[in-house]
Amino acid sequence: MHLNKTQILAVEESAHRLLIIAGAGTGKTAVITQRIAYLTQKKGIPSRDILALTFTNKAAKEMQIRAISIASELERTTFTTFHSFGAKFLREYGKVMGLYRYFTIYDDQDQLALLKRLYPSEPKKQLLEWRHLINKAKDYALSLEELDNYTHNIEEFRAMFDDYQQTLRANQAVDFGDLILLPLQILEQYPLIKAEQEQRWHAILVDEYQDTNRTQSALLQKLVGKATYLTVVGDEDQSIYAFRGADTTAILEFDTIFPETKMIKLEQNYRSHQHILHIANYLIDKNINRLGKRLFTENSSQKPVEFHTFTDEIEETKWIINQIKANALYKNRTTAILYRTNAQSRIFEKYLTQEQIPYKLVGAMRFFEREEIKTAIAGLTLLINPYDTVAFRRILTTPSRGVGAKSIEKIEDLQKELKESSLIDSAIQAKLPSKARVSIEKIALTYQALQNQLEENSPLKTLLATLLHELELFQHYQEKDQEEGSDRLENLQELLSALSFYPTGKDGLIAFLESLQLNQQPEEDQEQTTLNLITIHNTKGLEYDCVFLTGMEQHLFPKINTHSRNIVEELEEERRLCYVAITRAREELYVTHAQQRTLYGERRYQQPSQFLQEAYLSEDVTLHHHDVEAQNNGDHIYYIGRWVRDEEYGVGKILKTHHTRAGHLTLTIQFKERIATFFPQFRQLEPIVFDGLEEF
Ligand code: ATP
Ligand code: MG
Repeated sequence: MHLNKTQILAVEESAHRLLIIAGAGTGKTAVITQRIAYLTQKKGIPSRDILALTFTNKAAKEMQIRAISIASELERTTFTTFHSFGAKFLREYGKVMGLYRYFTIYDDQDQLALLKRLYPSEPKKQLLEWRHLINKAKDYALSLEELDNYTHNIEEFRAMFDDYQQTLRANQAVDFGDLILLPLQILEQYPLIKAEQEQRWHAILVDEYQDTNRTQSALLQKLVGKATYLTVVGDEDQSIYAFRGADTTAILEFDTIFPETKMIKLEQNYRSHQHILHIANYLIDKNINRLGKRLFTENSSQKPVEFHTFTDEIEETKWIINQIKANALYKNRTTAILYRTNAQSRIFEKYLTQEQIPYKLVGAMRFFEREEIKTAIAGLTLLINPYDTVAFRRILTTPSRGVGAKSIEKIEDLQKELKESSLIDSAIQAKLPSKARVSIEKIALTYQALQNQLEENSPLKTLLATLLHELELFQHYQEKDQEEGSDRLENLQELLSALSFYPTGKDGLIAFLESLQLNQQPEEDQEQTTLNLITIHNTKGLEYDCVFLTGMEQHLFPKINTHSRNIVEELEEERRLCYVAITRAREELYVTHAQQRTLYGERRYQQPSQFLQEAYLSEDVTLHHHDVEAQNNGDHIYYIGRWVRDEEYGVGKILKTHHTRAGHLTLTIQFKERIATFFPQFRQLEPIVFDGLEEF
């Protein structure tokens, strides 16, 4: 690859503070990886003293692969996510805050379980709200005064927050927010550790900087010393993590935080064809909150982008799969089927399996969120963190072992009194009913055996097998599979085989648990397939020859809550997400939507996404309708809620459909000025495929 002039300037820039702002596909990641190579080769910075940070595990991995292909010595460079970095940091330095090396990482489900235990009589809505506020407080590093703006009752929130924090610490657990906030606090409070870190990293490079939240940006500030080369690259149009506290102020305020920042802009896109880039530019232009930059490409324009309309999601799926089959897209080229929500992958999986087309499901239905996996993880967690009450409760109650809520409370209370004693030891000492006692003794024996295995460096796989067997979890989930037709045993099997990639002992186990908790898929055999099923959020920084962007329907994408107070911001965020999706495509882009879809168990009529309209440019897009049946039966074209255009009255929305006794369809339509009823047979009503949001 021959870098262009501006890219070379960016790679070789001598300033210690460098901000690169650039649109999708302009070579931001390429520049970062080249700059890492440049810093090691020309500036003599040892490759292991370089830290490269980004947001998804997949992006970190991708960056590492690219870097190593430039210079093999970059194997020693740390490519990681902010959260993994935080976890690693805490395992090393957390003890200054009383955090045990083998702490547990709680995801949002665990957070909720903990809150539920603290406040059993509060409604779930309240708990969800509190969880949201807790995360917000941590992601934004909010002070109490600032928090006051978000809650009606700051006193109540504060008391809750204190309870929550105390319990987390007593459990030797941290949540995702803590993974960033605690390292930040440690660096603030311990100058020696800060000095050590400043010297540790001679260069820090951050990709996808637009996704940093306030706490992450503060952490970054603390890691950087005077002599550290700091390079950040970002694109405000691709900021899609507002829900985790990221906003574009990170980019806008960069040079305030770091004086003497050199700024470079890249505008030439190397990834996508003209047509694709045009519609991406056109769409993102609808956002008001942006710095505004225009991308251009010298790539020739080839196939126009195709917009396809289907009667329902089954037709949509079948057509896509036919396309993939007919063009052997699963082996010749990299291809991705993109969707807004995880649940949409199911139907593609079903038909791909039927057609025996190999595919890879990327980061979807998070593996570790499955019930059986959570239980297995809880079992392993308890082995290295004997204070984790969330894990303990899970083991005590799955399957039901005759240990009631009262007994559990007694045990936990006793443990608080005894302090140093583990939960299981406390359970042995607690006064419990005889049934509970028998169960506890069995569990204690099992853990004793597991502890021995761990110390003897038995393979982790053996450990987990013992655990599942002795605690009757195999049996429990086998029964469940028989009842529900689920495949929980198979998932446990997968977990077992994933474990064989990890070293033995406590450190191997912690590495394994961390990889799951930080939402990576466990290590797997790298299956050779080029077809990916992936949510748009997970495609950050990636690219494919051919992209199918599916389910482009109002309420599905953009997925916004029409009652929300921040509807404008939310819509803009969804639009950025759509921009990310479009700009993943190199050569071919197919955008599809269905007129009906089963969502959350309900059959619904779907309006086309407003983004179709907003990205539609006649010279770059061709339209395709697949509603063959509709030709014969007006019901399919004209349904309630659909927009049509009438020569005389203009644009209107169908309010009612009705069949006369003779079987003729009539439509009652709300136009801007009037309501009118027609026989569509006799009146030229043009269904509008794309409509705006505004209602009149
Ligand atoms: P995103 O915003 O999606 O993360 P990006 O700005 O990081 O995109 P890259 O992924 O680095 O862009 O580059 C996009 C594509 O363009 C890659 O395939 C890369 O190899 C290619 N590319 C980048 N710069 C050049 C160049 N100067 N000549 C040829 N190809 C290039
Ligand atoms: Mg990139």
